[in-house]
Amino acid sequence: MGVIRTGRRLADGREILYFDDDRHPVARTAVDPRDLPPVSTHSQLRYDALLGEWVVIASHRQSRTFLPPADQCPLCPSRPDRATEIPESDYQVVVFENRFPSLATGVATDVPAAAPGAPSAELRPGYGRCEVVCFTSEHDRVFADLGSDRARLVVDVWAERTAELSRLDGVQQVYCFENHGEEIGVTLSHPHGQIYAYPFVTPRVAKVLAAACRHREQTGGDLFADVMAAERSGPRVVTANEHWTAFVPAAARWPFEVQLFPTRKVPDLPALTDDERDAFVEVYLDVLARFARRMDTPMPYIASWNQAPVHEGRDEWWLHLQLFSLRRAPGKLKYLAGSESGMGAFITDTNPEDVAEALRSVVVE
Ligand SMILES: [Zn+2]
Repeated sequence: MGVIRTGRRLADGREILYFDDDRHPVARTAVDPRDLPPVSTHSQLRYDALLGEWVVIASHRQSRTFLPPADQCPLCPSRPDRATEIPESDYQVVVFENRFPSLATGVATDVPAAAPGAPSAELRPGYGRCEVVCFTSEHDRVFADLGSDRARLVVDVWAERTAELSRLDGVQQVYCFENHGEEIGVTLSHPHGQIYAYPFVTPRVAKVLAAACRHREQTGGDLFADVMAAERSGPRVVTANEHWTAFVPAAARWPFEVQLFPTRKVPDLPALTDDERDAFVEVYLDVLARFARRMDTPMPYIASWNQAPVHEGRDEWWLHLQLFSLRRAPGKLKYLAGSESGMGAFITDTNPEDVAEALRSVVVE
């Protein structure tokens, strides 16, 4: 399968990109008929000197759309009587710039050097980019039911966006993710994910990279490779094929957590071969089906791609996907309370080996 990409502009100047399977090509010529004011983004980064981490302050996002009724979904294709974010009457996979972005390349740059009265809280414009990725034009479908061809097209789109956004000056990390299910605060139910291009390396990736570098200095070994080798033959594998292994991590922090690692060490999605992308789809759809069928209603989840930073640690990094759910039992969510929210110390009441067994035992037809 090849991918045809068509780039156009929305009424307010934002970019929209259509990605089509070249076996089913469609001309993408629809014009956005809406009268939209230009987007203005005033977000800023503030440095937390105590933690050594950046915080994005995006107070302009308060007015964004929150769970509209299905007949007003902004991610469904446009109809003659109703224009949405996607001018075409149908689409396969589409990507566009978020109308309410936390980070934007056109962000207002006139920010002071530091927060008022806090010289150590360095301030920078919220430069970067936030994109929305719609996986299908069908409002009621979920990723788990996309089918292999469409899921593969999404993987290619994630890889293409990662490569392109990595080339933007000042971008340090590209993050593809999906928040799935109202229980975790999804504001639009149409099947979609997001891509953030950050102007800094995120705290999680910085921390993991530091651990890998420390391990290299102390033992000469590869931390990711050691973890992978152990997990591939360990008790927590959920499912695997030649190119990918899905396992519950030994120190899982969420009630249901699975990590998907490619067998070959690669820094990011663009580095995956065609065979590895196909094999990922097979394993990922299998794991998502287990998440969907484990309880009487599908589990909400967050799917989080951990890619190498754009400019550092690329030889050390090993691409992986973290998939986790906050639901610990039917109707019960894990809340990040005092220990987790206050101290960042996770306490979980599920045993990782039991979770792996429970997911393995789900019947996936
Ligand atoms: Zn929709």
